[in-house]
Amino acid sequence: MNVILLGAPGAGKGTQAVRLAEKYNIPHISTGDIFRSNIKGQTPIGIVAKSYIDKGQLVPDEVTIQIVKERLEKEDCKNGYLLDGFPRTVSQAEALDTFSKVEAVVNVDVPLGKLLKRITGRRVCGKCGESYHVDYLNGKTDCAKCGAELIQRADDNEVTVASRLEVYEKQTAPLIEYYAQKGVLLTVDGDGDIEKVFNSICEKLG
Ligand code: ADP
Ligand code: AMP
Repeated sequence: MNVILLGAPGAGKGTQAVRLAEKYNIPHISTGDIFRSNIKGQTPIGIVAKSYIDKGQLVPDEVTIQIVKERLEKEDCKNGYLLDGFPRTVSQAEALDTFSKVEAVVNVDVPLGKLLKRITGRRVCGKCGESYHVDYLNGKTDCAKCGAELIQRADDNEVTVASRLEVYEKQTAPLIEYYAQKGVLLTVDGDGDIEKVFNSICEKLG
């Protein structure tokens, strides 16, 4: 099953992707995670990506498309994949169509007004990538899954978030129509608790 998770920053794509990847036994591929690991390793891609990510802008299409193309060629994608954070522009979607067949696009719909709080309160595990929110951590600073330390992403600050949300509206939201026209769009209400959203996605995916 070749699935895309679409949604604004903070909509809950990563949170759901971890659970869906486990249930459907397909790899969770997050372009944001790929960039962050390149930044950590100070690779040439990481150095380029950081200059855009720090400003809340998109990494150029040619860089991003190539990374995804190579990743989807790997053996573990032969029975499907779950893309989280890609595509983010119509050009990326068109490129993806040339090297893979997208079967379902899940649009996780959350009112814009709720996203800022979700993102600025996000804490992520530096090791396994699990996402948490300060409101539910009760002061805990380590990951419930693997015990590693939780961190706040450098781009999860109010200034960068404003720019990311603007970029989403202008460059990524048009993908909703793009995939609706292709007849593969499934929209779920992302404004419920994590379990409820997960169940709605599973129901739609069948
Ligand atoms: P995305 O990958 O779309 O940017 P995340 O999955 O990282 O978003 O979620 C953003 C923040 O919102 C995190 O702090 C996460 O714990 C929280 N979150 C995710 N899903 C829900 C939900 N259904 N209800 C409330 N908070 C959520
Ligand atoms: P995310 O982890 O999905 O929130 O992504 C973090 C940042 O990585 C984004 O704000 C972008 O700067 C960059 N990024 C992630 N995915 C893409 C993509 N498909 N195209 C361009 N930039 C991306």
